[in-house]
Amino acid sequence: TTKQLIMSEKLAAIGEITAGVAHEINNPIAVIQGNLEVIQSIVGDEADKARGEFKLIDQQLMRISEMVTNLLKFSKPQEYAGVLERYNPADIIGDTLPLVRHLLKKTTIMIEREDHASRLIAMPRTELQQVLINLIVNAFHAMPQGGKLVLRTFDSETDRTPGITIEVSDTGSGMEPDVVNRIFDAFFTTKRREGTGLGLSICQMLVTRQGGTIAVTSKPGEGTTFTVWLPEAA
Ligand code: ADP
Repeated sequence: TTKQLIMSEKLAAIGEITAGVAHEINNPIAVIQGNLEVIQSIVGDEADKARGEFKLIDQQLMRISEMVTNLLKFSKPQEYAGVLERYNPADIIGDTLPLVRHLLKKTTIMIEREDHASRLIAMPRTELQQVLINLIVNAFHAMPQGGKLVLRTFDSETDRTPGITIEVSDTGSGMEPDVVNRIFDAFFTTKRREGTGLGLSICQMLVTRQGGTIAVTSKPGEGTTFTVWLPEAA
């Protein structure tokens, strides 16, 4: 449809701009990091007095640099060699859980899986994996006292188009409506220093680019469910 076309053109334009900006940001960061080291060696022993400050500056620079790298990686549609692989969404969940298990073990988080999808999808594996990691890490952050993480897949239709749904639910803090309304905005975060506010906007971009959708329902004090819908592979 025209609306979808405009959307994908917009996404492509945003991709071009972000990739350009990201490059422009990374170069000065490298210069600052280099000069920081030089300053430290010039001031010698005196630098020890400000060790904490130096470390903080370095950490924050690394954070910016990481953010920019992520933007670069995902802002441009990748070019695929040959045909896209078709797979069941449950495969990716199986590949992704080991990557986040160390995190989930930090508190007592029970993981429940329900794999009911029989259809195949063709979203690039690394991209869907990135989406799932973002959603699972957010769920972990929302359950500091532990809780339950449910990962569910099933066949579903959107506007009569066959596809699959992946649900990621947690029994964590949940969100107030005014937070829910902003979570997909780039740089919106409630995590202050630890958050970049880019996770969900990247998720949304990756999923929309595949003709899919991402939605959320949340109740303060009860938990949150993210619902990703993807069209069936052609
Ligand atoms: P970040 O995690 O860096 O803050 P995101 O874009 O991934 O950036 O998330 C934006 C905000 O959405 C988070 O700061 C948090 O307030 C909220 N959020 C996301 N997922 C959840 C969740 N599962 N439970 C509660 N709040 C969430």
